[in-house]
Amino acid sequence: MKYFSLNDKNHKVSFEDAVVRGLAPGKALYFPEEIPDLPKAFFQKLNKLPKEEIAFEAIQPFVGEEIDKNGLQEILKKTLDFEFPVVQISETIGTLELFHGPTLAFKDVGAGFMAGCLGHFVKKGNLGKITVLVATSGDTGGAVANGFLGVEGIDVVILYPKGKVSEIQEKQLTTLGQNITALEVNGNFDDCQDMVKKAFSDEDISDKRQLTSANSINVARWLPQMFYYFFAYKQLAGKQQKLAFSVPSGNFGNICAGMLAKKMGLPIDHFIASNNENNVVTRYLQSQEYSPKPSVQTISNAMDVGNPSNFVRILELFKGEFNPLSQQLSSYSFSDVETRKAIKEVKDKYNYVMDPHGAVGYLGLQQFLIENNDYYGTFLETAHPVKFLKTVEDVIEEKVGIPASIKEAMNKEKKSIEISDYSELKEYLMQ
Ligand SMILES: *Cc1c(COP(=O)(O)O)cnc(C)c1O
Repeated sequence: MKYFSLNDKNHKVSFEDAVVRGLAPGKALYFPEEIPDLPKAFFQKLNKLPKEEIAFEAIQPFVGEEIDKNGLQEILKKTLDFEFPVVQISETIGTLELFHGPTLAFKDVGAGFMAGCLGHFVKKGNLGKITVLVATSGDTGGAVANGFLGVEGIDVVILYPKGKVSEIQEKQLTTLGQNITALEVNGNFDDCQDMVKKAFSDEDISDKRQLTSANSINVARWLPQMFYYFFAYKQLAGKQQKLAFSVPSGNFGNICAGMLAKKMGLPIDHFIASNNENNVVTRYLQSQEYSPKPSVQTISNAMDVGNPSNFVRILELFKGEFNPLSQQLSSYSFSDVETRKAIKEVKDKYNYVMDPHGAVGYLGLQQFLIENNDYYGTFLETAHPVKFLKTVEDVIEEKVGIPASIKEAMNKEKKSIEISDYSELKEYLMQ
């Protein structure tokens, strides 16, 4: 499979190049040249297949011959080493829990798969040593650190803003050791991001190290997110109603992967992009005008994105045509007040504890089902409520149980290097 640049259809690269480079020239996104049609027989027997096999069938056409069958199976086995259950909330609503991975957020799958692919390409031998440099506001760092831990030939350097990530998130970044280094930046997330960007265009550094990024625009982080929808379908296949999925969306990678799965033949009828007050897509579907705004801070902070990078990929799926897109996609936006109220309501009524992101997904689904009563709806629960402990406990007025894996990380010793400006980052990278 070849990947082309969404800025220039003539710029085409292999899967390996798209993964190693991350972005096409001019900061454009890569997109697969063809979207495979999976055979009907595959969907008919899907509920009898193990998840690793489903994932293999779905992703193999995108990887092609660049990773052999055994190699790809190995990567998938390691990446998908936990469960993806659909939990019934009410008669017409279920939630797909994506938080059973090592860092308790859905980004574990994308990060693990990307680490597996990059590790495979480095091992094959013609790349040399690679440094993954990434800035995080919280969840990405932990997932990337975990995914790349112990992968030979790859060093990971994570920048995070001192005092601005949760205690759990900080422990997930700073206690792993081995090939993972955490740089604690005296500044905010934007400062971290700026330093990373500067390093990527600094020739002194690129003479010395081969840098790559691991954020969500990389095809190896984006594509494997389609697995969630296949795994959910496997559990929902007996339903008589039409199927809708509500996806709490920030950078729109997750929902875009779901829409890709539909295009490959997965029988999903409708998608709902659930937004917090960062609602550029909700407004687009109302007005046909795409007008990004600077992001505002909310309690579902992983979705505080003013201008979602992956929306251009959704447009590409529909060749830029508004009508077919708007028939398949609805979008709603909710305030923090509404989000808190939903967490409380669902706990009281169904005894289920949602995190703030999942709660936004629930609200979007609820709204859609009011207008469309012939659907069964699934909302994606993208993080464990323990990752947003204070918000959730304040709302439900109860303690949330802390999983064993988190307790273990909380007891480990934090190791980080404090830096204050770009020269200190450069000094570290030039060693
Ligand atoms: C990253 C993230 C999201 C948003 O996902 P996108 O693919 O960027 O839309 C939602 N919830 C949580 C918990 C996240 O970490």
